[in-house]
Amino acid sequence: MPELPEVENTRRNLVRFGLPGCTITGADITWANTVKKPSAAELTEGVKGRTIQEARRKGKFLMFPLSGAGPETFIVHLGMTGRLLVQPASQEPDPMTRHTFPLDDGRELRFVDGRKFGKLWLVDSPDEALPKMSPEPLDDEFTVETLAESFAGKKAPVKALLLEQSVACGLGNLYADESLYLAGIHPERPAAGLSTDEVARLLQGITDALNAAYGVYDRARDQHWPDPPTALTTWSHPRDVNSPCPNCGTNMSAIRVRARGTYFCGKCQV
Ligand SMILES: [Zn+2]
Repeated sequence: MPELPEVENTRRNLVRFGLPGCTITGADITWANTVKKPSAAELTEGVKGRTIQEARRKGKFLMFPLSGAGPETFIVHLGMTGRLLVQPASQEPDPMTRHTFPLDDGRELRFVDGRKFGKLWLVDSPDEALPKMSPEPLDDEFTVETLAESFAGKKAPVKALLLEQSVACGLGNLYADESLYLAGIHPERPAAGLSTDEVARLLQGITDALNAAYGVYDRARDQHWPDPPTALTTWSHPRDVNSPCPNCGTNMSAIRVRARGTYFCGKCQV
């Protein structure tokens, strides 16, 4: 599932493809359920003739402010398997392409979405589509204090809280595990029981995990342009109980936290 680094990678790809500045000339929505607001027909009409001004991101939501009259922002959530590509109209589309938005320069914005969990909105304000989210984990507003506040009084496992968008927006299963691994914190520790030092270590772990992932995607984009990869292994902990922890050599452990597969080192993470 695309997490924050994958969605940010998508955003950076779209910027490099020159999507901002392009005008959408139409829309072919082949799976109406993807459109959450307004209707598929209204969205199809509503994006036509409008210029994409920017490619923004908040958590796992991609937001495209549009020029001209009508609802101001086109919003995309990639869901479980979604990919957003800009390709020449002459290029054979991926068979899993669900929605196509022709652009005024002979290219198309294509939403490839095999499992159809992606979502689209065309709304006046992002508040109509986005849930309550924490500050961006790499922003200055995301601090030891805000994280500690989110954990205060919570007996739930720290990993479970890291998966909540209101605690650490954009973090998903993989980067929650990686952050806890880098911080040396056991995923099942009750969140409220973490000391201030541990919360600080966790914040550092989140920062390091995300920055490392951004770096992997940035290098891959340069290497593989114009066909940048959209899913890479960007974490350092092995997700395999037969593989040793890179720090101590102990085999990794696997448990489930809130039904999510969780890998950790029983020796390094306490
Ligand atoms: Zn270890």
